[in-house]
Amino acid sequence: MVITEADIRRDVKEKGIKFLRLMFTDILGTLKNVEVPATEEQLDKLFENKMMFDGSSIEGFVRINESDMLLYPDLDTWIVFPWGDEYGKVAGVICDVYTPDGEPFAGDPRGVLKRNLKKMEKVGFKSFNLGPEPEFFLFKLDENGNPTLEVNDKGSYFDLAPTDLAGNTRREIVNVLTSLGFEVEASHHEVAIGQHEIDFKYENVLKACDNIQIFKLVVRTVARAHGLHASFMAKPVQGINGSGMHCNMSLFTADGKNAFADPAGDMGLSDVAQSFIAGLLKHAYNFTAISNPTVNSYKRLVPGYEAPVYVAWAGRNRSPLIRVPASRGMSTRVELRSVDPTANPYLVLSVLLASGLDGINDKLQAPAAIEENIYMMSEAERKAHGITDLPSTLHNAVKALQEDAVVTEALGDHVLANFVEAKRIEWASYAQFVSRWEIDNYLELY
Ligand code: ADP
Ligand code: GLU
Ligand code: MG
Ligand code: MG
Repeated sequence: MVITEADIRRDVKEKGIKFLRLMFTDILGTLKNVEVPATEEQLDKLFENKMMFDGSSIEGFVRINESDMLLYPDLDTWIVFPWGDEYGKVAGVICDVYTPDGEPFAGDPRGVLKRNLKKMEKVGFKSFNLGPEPEFFLFKLDENGNPTLEVNDKGSYFDLAPTDLAGNTRREIVNVLTSLGFEVEASHHEVAIGQHEIDFKYENVLKACDNIQIFKLVVRTVARAHGLHASFMAKPVQGINGSGMHCNMSLFTADGKNAFADPAGDMGLSDVAQSFIAGLLKHAYNFTAISNPTVNSYKRLVPGYEAPVYVAWAGRNRSPLIRVPASRGMSTRVELRSVDPTANPYLVLSVLLASGLDGINDKLQAPAAIEENIYMMSEAERKAHGITDLPSTLHNAVKALQEDAVVTEALGDHVLANFVEAKRIEWASYAQFVSRWEIDNYLELY
């Protein structure tokens, strides 16, 4: 849908909008906003790309001496939030970040994705599509409004009420998303207690990443109103499943065809799809710092909880990193199962696209699909099948990230340097922390 300046001015008048949120995402994936009153003057400034903000306080943005940044609104992302308060209705628009010289700012993750999409177009594809499957937990708030680790249901996969008491919260989330134009395809309780998943229809990747950011905002806001805290942390509770954000991906060509589909190909997949898979497998170890960017992410990537641990691909089998779901035709897609919802969507899809295109450009051949349960294989059997491991810690993942020319090129120097610095600090702080587990296991033994 194309939204014009006139549409926005009309909405502001007719819907009584009092505030505008100018939204963008920092390098760590957090949605940020500058809020301005929805006056004629501010709207004029917005449409003339003259909204300035001080980027120096934003994670990984700029140094103090070059702090002024401009926000260029992407009008098609205009949304009117369904909740207002006594101070008036709020609307918002997602913006691209530009330098005062009118250049796209290298530290803007959305700009990074746009740059990678240009490369894709040069190779001859029209769109890169993403259908994300974000999972999250709903935890109770304590009397002071702080999150606890207590869940408010005893439900499990696809359960119905009365076990699933969070059902109403989920239903309201779906209503709000629908009113904002999301095409919600499924909403269900996940395997773990207190865990949920809401899937929305695939879109071109830029729109899909914007959707992920708005989705998280909606989920958190609605959960709060129900006395719950929504967490997208990868492994909030030990001993039960963590939360992933499986990424379903495909490439379409200018004539509207799905480039991954070929009824005559092996498993109904085209050579392009096979090479895309091969590219993902080739760079998987090295892009994991971006797809699984927290210390805690690696506590999810262990055997036994439906999360991947090994670098391999399969058709039906859910144990490997990459699965090709059974649907064919326009739904032919590749599902990457390692990504978790703490990943910055714009950055992770940038590195996934670059990895897949590397496979296509070099006409890489995917290794044989693994249809056996990898978790039942011995180390020797895995070795014989050429199956390797994903990184086991953020520390190892960040080291590998810096060594991959394709992945680092996709991120650009600015994002890479700032991401690596932030993650080094995160790891150093974690590495010094003495945990309960260590006390329980070592204090009396030694
Ligand atoms: P699963 O079988 O892993 O539970 P789901 O059915 O929950 O998968 O999710 C499927 C996701 O894949 C949805 O977001 C859907 O819109 C998306 N999808 C369908 N076709 C395509 C496609 N051609 N490209 C990318 N994503 C697609
Ligand atoms: N929660 C699982 C994970 O960590 C995925 C479960 C599923 O297959 O939907 O990835
Ligand atoms: Mg799921
Ligand atoms: Mg899935």
